[in-house]
Amino acid sequence: MNYKKYFKKAIAIALLFFLVNAPLILAYKNIDDKDNIIKNNSNNSKEIALTFDDGPHPKETAKILDVLKKYDAKATFFVVGKHVKWYPDSVIRASKEGHEIGNHTYTHPDISTLSEEQLKTEIKDCENIIMEKTGQKPKVFRPPFGNYNKRCLEELSKDLGYTVVLWSGVDVRDWQNPSSNQISNKIINNVKPGDIILLHDYGTENTIKALNTIIPSLQQKGYKFVTVSELLDKKNR
Ligand code: ZN
Repeated sequence: MNYKKYFKKAIAIALLFFLVNAPLILAYKNIDDKDNIIKNNSNNSKEIALTFDDGPHPKETAKILDVLKKYDAKATFFVVGKHVKWYPDSVIRASKEGHEIGNHTYTHPDISTLSEEQLKTEIKDCENIIMEKTGQKPKVFRPPFGNYNKRCLEELSKDLGYTVVLWSGVDVRDWQNPSSNQISNKIINNVKPGDIILLHDYGTENTIKALNTIIPSLQQKGYKFVTVSELLDKKNR
């Protein structure tokens, strides 16, 4: 038996199989990414979405709202439901002042470890408290720790009606308490049009100081600060 010949034949068949199916495999991957999870808007308009996770905080969220108001900038707050229950004032104020409130679960678990039913409870409990306080149903969701799996994404987008939003550009890890200069320099030097920037409004005082530099200096460069939904609305323009 001529093994070399069979080997060559096997390789040829495998190659042919890949070539025939490659477009299908690649297309499937794109659909999965594009339809179920968002990291930025790549249409190159000079807009940025600032996002603040884990609040509302009893003091810090209000201070962030003051800075945003000073510079007429809009942002998105991915809130934890139980914090909304404890400290609702800043969420009510943020919503009234034109910021977006996103769902970040009720107790901040790693959703990739939850059952379908547990995930639904986390999302609905947070959704209900946001609706009770602001009168508006949240449209965007961010998974705690950025952790998720395919099943979670499908449940969130198909059954629960959310756009799942991660972030893009540099992650300054402000929860590790870098200096305000480190935060502002990293963001100002790395930002791109359409970026969704991850920050926190829970236990991160330096973030508030950094915003006083980040917002005016990027506005001077022609950037506009919009909510996540506003940023994504312009995706196909
Ligand atoms: Zn979080």
